[in-house]
Amino acid sequence: MSDTRAPLDVVLIGGGIMSATLGTMIQRLQPDWTIRIYETLGEVAQESSNPWNNAGTGHAALCELNYMPEAADGSVSPDKAISINEQFQLSRQFWASLAKRGELPTSFINPTPHMTFVRGDDDIAYLRKRYAALKDQPLFAGMEYSEDHRVIRQWAPLLIKGRAREPIAATRAPSGTDVDFGALTRALFDVLTERGAELRLNCRVKGIRRTREGNWRLKVKHLVGGTPHTVDARFVFVGAGGGALHLLQSSRIEEIKGFGGFPISGKFFRTSNPKLVAQHQAKVYGKAAVGAPPMSVPHLDTRVVDGQTSLLFGPYAGFSPKFLKRGSWSDLPGSVRPGNVGPMLAVARDNLDLVRYLISELLASRAKKLRALQEFMPTAKDEDWELITAGQRVQVMKKDAKRGGVLQFGTEVVAAADGSIAGLLGASPGASTAVPIMLDVLQRCFPQQWASWEPSLKELIPTMGTTLNDHPERAAQVLAETAEVLGLVH
Ligand SMILES: Cc1cc2nc3c(=O)[nH]c(=O)nc-3n(C[C@H](O)[C@H](O)[C@H](O)COP(=O)(O)OP(=O)(O)OC[C@H]3O[C@@H](n4cnc5c(N)ncnc54)[C@H](O)[C@@H]3O)c2cc1C
Repeated sequence: MSDTRAPLDVVLIGGGIMSATLGTMIQRLQPDWTIRIYETLGEVAQESSNPWNNAGTGHAALCELNYMPEAADGSVSPDKAISINEQFQLSRQFWASLAKRGELPTSFINPTPHMTFVRGDDDIAYLRKRYAALKDQPLFAGMEYSEDHRVIRQWAPLLIKGRAREPIAATRAPSGTDVDFGALTRALFDVLTERGAELRLNCRVKGIRRTREGNWRLKVKHLVGGTPHTVDARFVFVGAGGGALHLLQSSRIEEIKGFGGFPISGKFFRTSNPKLVAQHQAKVYGKAAVGAPPMSVPHLDTRVVDGQTSLLFGPYAGFSPKFLKRGSWSDLPGSVRPGNVGPMLAVARDNLDLVRYLISELLASRAKKLRALQEFMPTAKDEDWELITAGQRVQVMKKDAKRGGVLQFGTEVVAAADGSIAGLLGASPGASTAVPIMLDVLQRCFPQQWASWEPSLKELIPTMGTTLNDHPERAAQVLAETAEVLGLVH
């Protein structure tokens, strides 16, 4: 049974940060368009966008070493780090504009210095080079470096207490942030629905088919009562997180052929012991172990969720064939298609280090996990920490002319050539870059409207289309303004 007579203008599948961001943009650009959101679960932001399913780092490459690997000749280029920071600035501006208009409370984001912490001569030499490459970049202004235990103790006492006098080094960027992406997602959906978008919870989209008229027909199953229905839409965004691959495959668009997904699960240690929480006010990233995927870099974080502060350490990577935390054991085998089996086998062949790493992480006892924490915080005691399960990250596997298939740790927008359907695969840098990723979706899927939309988008994101790092004064001004509006200055 069809649910609507006329096709809806926009259907967003999934109640996470990506759909919330895209819906917010489209509603402002085309207030007359009908928008409906389908979410399997009983609330929005319960999968990766839930604050306890991710680390809440406002990824600006201030502290994450994986955005600045050392080249074979020993050089360290700042380009990728600058590009990640530029992307985060677009998200910050969008959030600040909504906050300025009174449409977004700012409690979802908190100032939290971002630090990098390394041990041993080789890693210290590398961090020194990284600092030298970044310290004069406008978007990294204020970054500090030290090898002095006393200085690092002032920055983050828990790193030093109980530590022998070994060689260590750290950088500290005071402009870092901790972001509660769940609170942000909920706030965006609140405004979306107040302004007329329709949110249907407990509704799973089972499949997507092209209609003769060129629209998309979605088959929807009500999980709590109700009858199954179909709905037609002119534009569909598959913001289903780990569920996106299956849905895009069901649409049979050419562009999804050859893509596969490799799920990596994660666990964190968490403590809310007030004595410990009071001693740590930073997100401290270390160096990844050999074979570890880039997003498994260990970090000891301040987290502020629903106004409560805790500390988080991890992630400990693991493997589960599920594509969503509340997904199905058949997700991975069910995603295999004749078109992606080759790339998937090539990835398995070329990533034995990763497979070994995941197996060792899966087998790691609680005592081994605690030892990893003690490398950061020598005085950590088992009884203070509980192990929590985070979200699933489905890494993108795709065809590659040379290798047959490659594993990719970024995100990938897959869109039909006619722009009528798009979806997001992959997980990193993730929620922090939701705004530039959704701008990419808009530009690719609505080329005819884009020119007329640009002025309105620039009101929300003034530096869209330009780079801040090349304009030091503008960068300083934008950083200061957004910090002020978002309550990031004390
Ligand atoms: C362990 C971990 C740590 C992370 N750390 C960070 C970090 O520090 N900083 C950062 O910026 N990002 C981080 N990320 C990434 C970030 O969490 C994600 O990129 C982001 O939340 C993805 O948002 P989304 O809207 O695409 O997906 P989700 O938030 O997963 O939302 C997808 C929604 O779609 C629904 N859905 C799925 N299938 C269907 C269907 N068939 N029908 C209807 N609904 C469906 C799901 O129930 C879910 O609610 C992390 C992720 C993980 C897993």
